[in-house]
Amino acid sequence: MELRKTFHIEAAHRLPHVPPGHKCGRLHGHSFTIEVALVGPVGAESGWVMDYADIKEAFKPLYERLDHHYLNEVPGLENPTSEHLALWVWRELKPRLPALTEVVVAETCTSRCVYRGERLA
Ligand SMILES: [Zn+2]
Repeated sequence: MELRKTFHIEAAHRLPHVPPGHKCGRLHGHSFTIEVALVGPVGAESGWVMDYADIKEAFKPLYERLDHHYLNEVPGLENPTSEHLALWVWRELKPRLPALTEVVVAETCTSRCVYRGERLA
């Protein structure tokens, strides 16, 4: 069974490696949507894979580091593309949520990046 939970983050960024004049090189902001997916068995007694509140709690430290921040100043996000943000979220969250299988970062309603992870030793 798969659970999904969505978080909303307001943050500013600029992309330092785009060609001169590219709009993404200018300081701007997004209402990012970050969706996480987890897969696991449904507990016989609990009837759920896990408590959504526990997913929210696991994400909270990430939320506090991202929401209303300038992403370029967050260590590991010096080039804060959606791809790098998805990777960053995966690396921060996977140790807290081992059942994590997917991170989806959307910087607009029509553009999103899906990351399904790397094997961690
Ligand atoms: Zn942008």
